Amino acid sequence: MKHFLPALLIGSLAAVSAHAAEDKNFNYHVDNFADIEVLRYEVPEFNQLSLQQKKMLYYLSQAAQAGRDIIWDQNGRYNLQIRALLEALYTSYKGDRQNAEFKAFEKYLKQVWFGNGIHHHYSNDKFTPGFSQAWFDAQVKQLPADSLPLEKGQTVNQMLEVLDPVIFDPTVMAKKVNQDGTQDVIATSANNLYGDGVTQAEVEAYYNMLKDPNDPTPISYGLNSRVVKENGKIVEQHYHLNGLYGPAIAKIIYWLDMAKSVAENDAQRAYITKLIDYYITGDLKLFDEYSILWAEDTASDVDFVNGFIESYGDPLGMTGSWEAYVNFKNRKASHRTETISSNAQWFEDHAPVDPKFRKPVVKGVSAKVITAAMLAGDAFPSTAIGINLPNANWIRAAHGSKSVTLENITEAYDMASHGNGFNEEFVIDAPTAKLMEDYLYITDMLHTDLHECLGHASGQLMPGVDPDALKENGSTLEEARADLFALYYLADPKLLELGIIDNPDAYKAEYYKYMLNGLMTQLNRIEPGKDVEEAHMRNRQLIAAWVLDHGKKDKVVELVKKNGKTFVKINDYPKMRELIGQLLAEIQRIKSEGDYEAGNKLVQKYAVKVDPKLHKEVLDRYAKLNIPPYRGFVNPVYTPIYGPDGEITDITLDYTEGYADQMLRLSREFSTLGY
Ligand code: ZN
Repeated sequence: MKHFLPALLIGSLAAVSAHAAEDKNFNYHVDNFADIEVLRYEVPEFNQLSLQQKKMLYYLSQAAQAGRDIIWDQNGRYNLQIRALLEALYTSYKGDRQNAEFKAFEKYLKQVWFGNGIHHHYSNDKFTPGFSQAWFDAQVKQLPADSLPLEKGQTVNQMLEVLDPVIFDPTVMAKKVNQDGTQDVIATSANNLYGDGVTQAEVEAYYNMLKDPNDPTPISYGLNSRVVKENGKIVEQHYHLNGLYGPAIAKIIYWLDMAKSVAENDAQRAYITKLIDYYITGDLKLFDEYSILWAEDTASDVDFVNGFIESYGDPLGMTGSWEAYVNFKNRKASHRTETISSNAQWFEDHAPVDPKFRKPVVKGVSAKVITAAMLAGDAFPSTAIGINLPNANWIRAAHGSKSVTLENITEAYDMASHGNGFNEEFVIDAPTAKLMEDYLYITDMLHTDLHECLGHASGQLMPGVDPDALKENGSTLEEARADLFALYYLADPKLLELGIIDNPDAYKAEYYKYMLNGLMTQLNRIEPGKDVEEAHMRNRQLIAAWVLDHGKKDKVVELVKKNGKTFVKINDYPKMRELIGQLLAEIQRIKSEGDYEAGNKLVQKYAVKVDPKLHKEVLDRYAKLNIPPYRGFVNPVYTPIYGPDGEITDITLDYTEGYADQMLRLSREFSTLGY
């Protein structure tokens, strides 16, 4: 599971002293287009790593980038061909680059790069090109045929006949992931995880047939496959060396093998070996064995994720989107998470939920703060700030999980937000703004720690409950559970006792931001007239709207008007914490008992619908601030330096590559699947 930044993190100068940044003049801003801002992140202390560790990071970074084409193809069956076509036009275009059509085309290409395909990474809606089809077709026809990504035997006209509707017709492949439970979520989702003509009912029947409810260690069904219909029968096409995505997987294996040769210890070598075996065979039992070895290795400094991991991209939450993270441990900051995780049992025992839903023994939640060194696949350019893996419930229960906070990423967000005017526009009064300035950086970080390290790992399912019982609401309710756990404990005196926080009021900064974001400011990410779709956004609105509603009688939280503008006003923070505890108890019950009906009711009542008037107000107020609602990153560039005998003597780190340059280079160096 991963944890995203809840909309905008508000800058706080007071917290800068807690930052690890090495270069005070580091320029975080890279590019700006549509609703996106591209940032860069610093990799502090890279130069303090040993040569062996640097090599390991380099090889793992190559393995990470080698899988790029996989996520593009998972996101939509025409994405790779479209990317190649757009890039061919972008690099060969001979006309005026200031021309309005070309400008619109460039913006569209930047959006497509950011979405790893033709759909928005967050809303899942198809991008709308601002240039005309006539202009586009005319430009394409002027390009030399050998620069075009033609399918075998395809003419230019035939290619355009296929791709033009995909790019220009708003009704074709309109939504990447559709989570509207009243429709067939498979048939109406444009992603490439299911073949033509496959229905939701068929997929559910297929997996129900495979699943054994009495299996205590079930594989993650469907995690590494595309489901298609062959001769009227449902079959899985598995992703592995000799299967789907084989050429990309071969490259990944090559670089993983190089990394293995410089692994830090035997435990790390063992899990890399297992991961390679899994990539060769596609056997999900091997993936579980790898996941266990990986979760149990807490000694290595350099670490990584590389595979089909998170299932947010699948409306049924089965298939994993390919992603990769490469990182190393931030030893100093890890004291914080180690303190939390070594008290995991205390937190579990005191959780405000029915005791029978608590874990009697919390298995090794290992938590650390990391420095991200490379983001790839579904984790790039938009990325998470916290991750907790593995996802399989039984592995988490029996072998524990690894929870990480990506501090240098959070820091880049924070530093890039200084002075953007958000506080002045949306925070109700000066004392609240001051509290947020002083404590939001640390409470945000703690929220991520608690969410990942304890929240996702807490609680247990009742015997025989299907972990997928909450269906299309599973991700939303799981994120809500982890957020509620984090919010509840942020206000607990235990954190003061543990020396993690120095002010009993610090949590109020996070509570205020959470309500402000969930009730108002995250609406900035939604187009007028649309519902809330994405699981993390639904979870945040669910919590905020439920608390507002259930605290109405006592005026715990209110929406008030000041000078014609709406503000969140929290009157009773301790009461708000009680409400958070109550909702946690209910959502834990829903999860533990697999109560789909109750879960769906909560989601439908609180998480989906938007008040159009308030929505418009938020959009208008945001528009004046000129802050893009979404942010992502370019990666630093690592270059090996070779000695006289061809051996690597150092790895250098460079931050200067721009957004378009990086995307074009990745396409040149890591196109593995056909174009
Ligand atoms: Zn999460």
